[in-house]
Amino acid sequence: MITPEAVRELYQAFGQQKPMGSSAPSTTQPHYFLLRTFHGENDLLVILNTKRCRYRCFFCQLPAKSSPYFIPGEDILAQFGYVLNEAKHALSILDRVTLSNEGSVLDDVTLPRETLLQIARCIHELRRVRRLVLETRLEFVDPSFIQQIKDAAPRVTVNLLTGFETYTPAIRDEILGKREPLPQFEQGLDRVAASGADLSAYVLYKPVPEMTDAEAFAEADRTIGYLREQCARRGIRLSIRLNPMYVAKGSRWAKRASALPNYHPPRLTDIMRLAEKHAVEGLRVYIGMSTEGLDEPNGSYAAREDYTSALIKPVKLFNDCKIVRFDWSALGLPDQPDWQRPAIAPVAAWPELALTAS
Ligand code: SF4
Repeated sequence: MITPEAVRELYQAFGQQKPMGSSAPSTTQPHYFLLRTFHGENDLLVILNTKRCRYRCFFCQLPAKSSPYFIPGEDILAQFGYVLNEAKHALSILDRVTLSNEGSVLDDVTLPRETLLQIARCIHELRRVRRLVLETRLEFVDPSFIQQIKDAAPRVTVNLLTGFETYTPAIRDEILGKREPLPQFEQGLDRVAASGADLSAYVLYKPVPEMTDAEAFAEADRTIGYLREQCARRGIRLSIRLNPMYVAKGSRWAKRASALPNYHPPRLTDIMRLAEKHAVEGLRVYIGMSTEGLDEPNGSYAAREDYTSALIKPVKLFNDCKIVRFDWSALGLPDQPDWQRPAIAPVAAWPELALTAS
C-alpha cells in the first residue's frame, strides 16, 4: 500500500531535490537528468557522461567527476535513450531539452558531432519541443554546425548556454582561471550571432571571496551590463543565469576562501535584488539555487543570516516568469539593503585586489 511517507521519499529522490553530485554508474547512463519547469517551460535537463572538460577552472570541480577517457558515441546515445525511457510518460509535454556534459557539448573531443546530430534528430520526434539548450564554451561554436543541428531538429530554437562568470579580466584570469580572455569571448559572440542562436550566460555572484556584499552586487551588476551591451550590439537575445558563488569542495578557489578568517558566501536576498533590477528592464534572469551537490558545509548562500526557506517560493515564481518583482515587505525586508543607499564600491577596486591577494 502506498503511504504518504513513501511518496515523500519518492519526491525527495526524484523531484527538484534529486541529488546531483555523483558520477554516472556506467558509460551507458548519464550523470544526471531532471524533469523540471524552467522559465515557465517543461524542460528535460540531461547531463551526459562523456570525456571530461579539458579545462580546470579554479572554482570548478565538475571535470573531476567525469571520465578521463573518451566515451564512444553509441554509449552516449544509450544514455540519452535511458533518459527518454525513464521520462517516457512525460515526453508529450516537453517544451525544451537542455544538454550538458559538465563541460562543452560542442567540443567534439568529448561529444562527437554525429552523436549530437543523432540526439537532435531524436529530439525532433518530441513534437512539442521548441528549444534546445546546449551548454558550451563559445570557442567551440561553429555556425555551420549549429545550422546542421537546426536542420536535424527544424522546430527548435538553439540556445547556447555558457559560463561567462564575470567581465573583470583580473578576476577571470587570476581568481577563476577561466583561460578565456574577453577578446576571445567577444569573437565567440560574433559566431553566436552568425549562428542565429540565443545566448544564456552564467554570471557568478561574488566571484572573489574577499568581496564585501556591496562590492559583489556592484561587480555582478557591471558584468550583466557588459553582456547586455555586447549582445544588443550583435542582435543576440540574451538571458542570464545568476549563480551565487559557492565553495566547491577541493577546488583551488575553496582553498583561497578557507584561508580567509571571515569568508562570507553571497546573500540570496542581494542576488534577488540584482535579478529584479534587470528583470524589470525586460531581461530574463534565472536565479541559480543549486550547488550541484559539490559544496562544502556552510559554503553557500544558505549559510548567510538573511537566508530562510521563505525565500524559495518567491525565487521559484521569479524563475518561472510569474513575477518580476519581489514583495519585500511581505518578506519583512526593506526595499533596499543598508549598503545600497550610500555610494557603491569603486570600479577600479577588483583588478588591484586580484593582483595582490592571489
Ligand atoms: S567552469 Fe566550465 S570550462 Fe571551466 S572547468 Fe568547469 S566545466 Fe570546464
